[in-house]
Amino acid sequence: MTPLKWFYSFLKKYRARLCLGLFLTTCIAGLSIVNPYISGIIVDDVVLAGNYDLLPRLVACLLGVTLFTGILRFSYQVTFETASQGLLYDMRGKVYRKLLEEDFAFYNRRRTGDLMSRQTGDMDAIRHFVAAVIYTVYQNILLFAFALLMVFTVNTKLALCMLVVLPFTAVATYRQSKEVKPAFQRNRNCFSSLNAFVQENISGNRVVKAFAQEDYEIEKFEKENDKFKNSQIMGSRVWMKYVPIFEILSYSLTIILMLYGGYMVIQDEITMGDLVKVNGYLWMLNTPLRMAGWWVNDIQNFITSVEKIYATYSEEPRVRTPRTGGIKARIHGDVEFKNVSYRADNEDIVTNIDFKVKAGQRVGIIGSTGSGKSTLMNLLCRFYDTTSGEVLVDGQNVRRHDLYNLRDNIGMAMQDVFLFSDTIEGNIAYGRPDCSFEEVKHAAVMADANHFISALPEGYDTIVGERGVGLSGGQKQRISLARALLKDPSILILDDTTSAVDMETESYIQTQLGKIQKNCTVFIIAYRISSIKDADMILVMDGGHIIEQGTHEELVARGGYYAKAFHNQYGEIPYALLKEQNARRKSG
Ligand code: ATP
Ligand code: MG
Repeated sequence: MTPLKWFYSFLKKYRARLCLGLFLTTCIAGLSIVNPYISGIIVDDVVLAGNYDLLPRLVACLLGVTLFTGILRFSYQVTFETASQGLLYDMRGKVYRKLLEEDFAFYNRRRTGDLMSRQTGDMDAIRHFVAAVIYTVYQNILLFAFALLMVFTVNTKLALCMLVVLPFTAVATYRQSKEVKPAFQRNRNCFSSLNAFVQENISGNRVVKAFAQEDYEIEKFEKENDKFKNSQIMGSRVWMKYVPIFEILSYSLTIILMLYGGYMVIQDEITMGDLVKVNGYLWMLNTPLRMAGWWVNDIQNFITSVEKIYATYSEEPRVRTPRTGGIKARIHGDVEFKNVSYRADNEDIVTNIDFKVKAGQRVGIIGSTGSGKSTLMNLLCRFYDTTSGEVLVDGQNVRRHDLYNLRDNIGMAMQDVFLFSDTIEGNIAYGRPDCSFEEVKHAAVMADANHFISALPEGYDTIVGERGVGLSGGQKQRISLARALLKDPSILILDDTTSAVDMETESYIQTQLGKIQKNCTVFIIAYRISSIKDADMILVMDGGHIIEQGTHEELVARGGYYAKAFHNQYGEIPYALLKEQNARRKSG
């Protein structure tokens, strides 16, 4: 599908309304020829011939046409405006839904500000086209044609003379449209880039302040601002170059009429009334010539915007729900990674991952930073698809599960906590908006969040700022944990969820986690041994591989990476004791 066909698929719904609008526009264009015609009659029959009794009827006609034209103009403007708003409503909704469907890879590549520009500036260019450009261009083409026709009825030679300017206008319009297109594309790119820059800096404003980088950011902003200004100026230069050409062409019509038309009156080839008549049509001929350049701009702006929005819209997510559709049901919770590898940007992220977890088991994942722990969970949630191997949930490849059902059964407290600017209650109940307050509170108690939430002046009704501003790191983590727990998931993923809470709180949370549904499979990613040591299975990751796998005791006995981490965190004595215990167990 081409971008314009895609645009037409939205326009189709408003075809009837637009046709009505165009019909009204045609009526106005038709009525526009009446007043100059009557003016001609007034000059010839009333002023020159002295038929004064005709005057009241002719004036009434003039007033009637003017009033009727006003009503029609109002009606078609309302028609086009409502059609444009309706079309934009549909398009914005569809593009937004598509944005929600896009996968992680899409958002990794795009800047938020860029995507925002698609939904704001580009959409507005489309609205302007539907609301104003369509009827203006159509009306002026009609006015030009009707006026020319009327001039032909007055005198063919005069009309042919006036037609001479048309080929020049056509050439100028064509050349301007060719030159202005790249200028508009540059403009929209610079606008997107400026938007993205401002958005990023406002979001990251705390980092800028912390590093006292205001001057550096202002300098960077000025560069973006300059780029945008220069692209605007360069664009303006293109069409400014053509403005005098269109003006000259339009005024040349007046000159032709005054010189040649005046000469014809003197030669008695046309009457004085005819000259007044043609003079009355002059604006209908002039305006399209003068405005042609601006309309070319508007149309090119519209085309560029449609192309940009469509380019974003048409990008298909690689992670999709199977066409056959999976079954929507509660997942049991068995998880298996079968020789799973994942590559991104020609780099191995995780390689040959093999493990099997039964429903209800608890799995701890530990390993150096960047070793691929979060990636494993991203593959389980199908935020990315594996490059090779299979991730099985309940014995079925996640690719064959209904994507939304799979994620609906997973509760995830992400490493990078994101809270919405909503109340604390709204944030916790995000996965189950219709649950009761008691359930929200229960989840908060389990996450050890109830205590601090209740101490806030507005309790659960406290609005947390964008991204949870106003809360401490540990508080945000506990709200995020409560949000995951409230979903009552079959698989619970806690990615570094207790890293910012003190040991006592963590121990409380561990106890609470022991109370959750027996058949909930839990994955805990942590750096602290205390967070994972009671797990049924611990995976130790390094460089995208599982280098060790087993229970706490087994791994300590092995004396590898895990044992070293345990030794570093717990000191010599418990480590030595454990070693001794293991030795005794083995010999006994
Ligand atoms: P941490 O403990 O710091 O959270 P991690 O073990 O969770 O680390 P991952 O987030 O899984 O590490 O990332 C593993 C590696 O893969 C990192 O080097 C990261 O830069 C890279 N990586 C992850 N996802 C992608 C991606 N989509 N595209 C490119 N590289 C990626
Ligand atoms: Mg991680």
